[in-house]
Amino acid sequence: MAVVSRCSRAATAATTANATTATTFTYLIRSLSPFSSSSSTFDPQNDLNNRNKPAVLGTLKRESKGRNVQWVFLGCPGVGKGTYASRLSNLLGVPHIATGDLVRDELASSGPLSSQLKEIVTQGKLVSDEIIIDLLSKRLEAGEAKGESGFILDGFPRTVRQAEILEGVTDIDLVINLKLREEALLAKCLGRRICSECGGNYNVACINIKAENGRPGMYMAPLPPPPQCASKLITRPDDTEEVVKQRLRIYQAMTRPVEDFYRSRGKLLEFDLPGGIPESWPKLLCALNLEDREDKQSAAA
Ligand code: AMP
Repeated sequence: MAVVSRCSRAATAATTANATTATTFTYLIRSLSPFSSSSSTFDPQNDLNNRNKPAVLGTLKRESKGRNVQWVFLGCPGVGKGTYASRLSNLLGVPHIATGDLVRDELASSGPLSSQLKEIVTQGKLVSDEIIIDLLSKRLEAGEAKGESGFILDGFPRTVRQAEILEGVTDIDLVINLKLREEALLAKCLGRRICSECGGNYNVACINIKAENGRPGMYMAPLPPPPQCASKLITRPDDTEEVVKQRLRIYQAMTRPVEDFYRSRGKLLEFDLPGGIPESWPKLLCALNLEDREDKQSAAA
């Protein structure tokens, strides 16, 4: 089933009568039947009985809607959206679409937008809603042509306006709000390394927060690259201390309200990361009522 279709009428209804956005958002995700669910918080430390989860979790993968899942990852820079979105994308067989990657691809292409985007991104600011929606629409259109019918979005929406546009054109099933202790976020961004050849994401930071004043400690091991990537690692130009702090400020001002947007619609699953991947991945799967058989097998081997 197709995921996207031309539908400028839906865009017009979705925005608050913003003509520019309606025209740039040419290719839209097809609107599907409403899905009811309840608001939810999942604390993996205390809530492994799967109480308080959105009702959406009862129906996964290919839904009764006749399409694959349409999920969104929210969370501060450095929280690990890319890591977990990519793992879930492999598990569920839906594309992981990171708008930050779309922006970086556009930057690398030296197209007409690239110098404008470079300035915005290196200052840690947000690209305009129009540009980001245009990039996302083109990516969805290309996916439709290849038969994609679902997605896991990472880095979109980042403003309430983007969320309104998305909500106006499709029925997002679930929004996973990843949360990590603030002390770890900056270190995670500064430790991030990317393979310039395969795009793989690694991290050299070793986070070891001691237990203090009744708060538990937290350990996150580095995520080293495989040998073939080790000599090709690069750092993102916007992962400097000054720019990361700016990105965190912008998250608070512009993206935090997006959490409320989805919370009020009963679509938000709050997930507090308890530590690194070995600890967090199984608990996230549990929160989502999913099972990763390959992961289990490799752990048992
Ligand atoms: P990320 O890789 O998600 O950290 O994104 C890198 C940069 O791309 C951000 O700092 C923004 O400048 C831009 N960007 C990515 N997604 C969006 C979005 N949804 N809205 C506006 N700007 C975005």
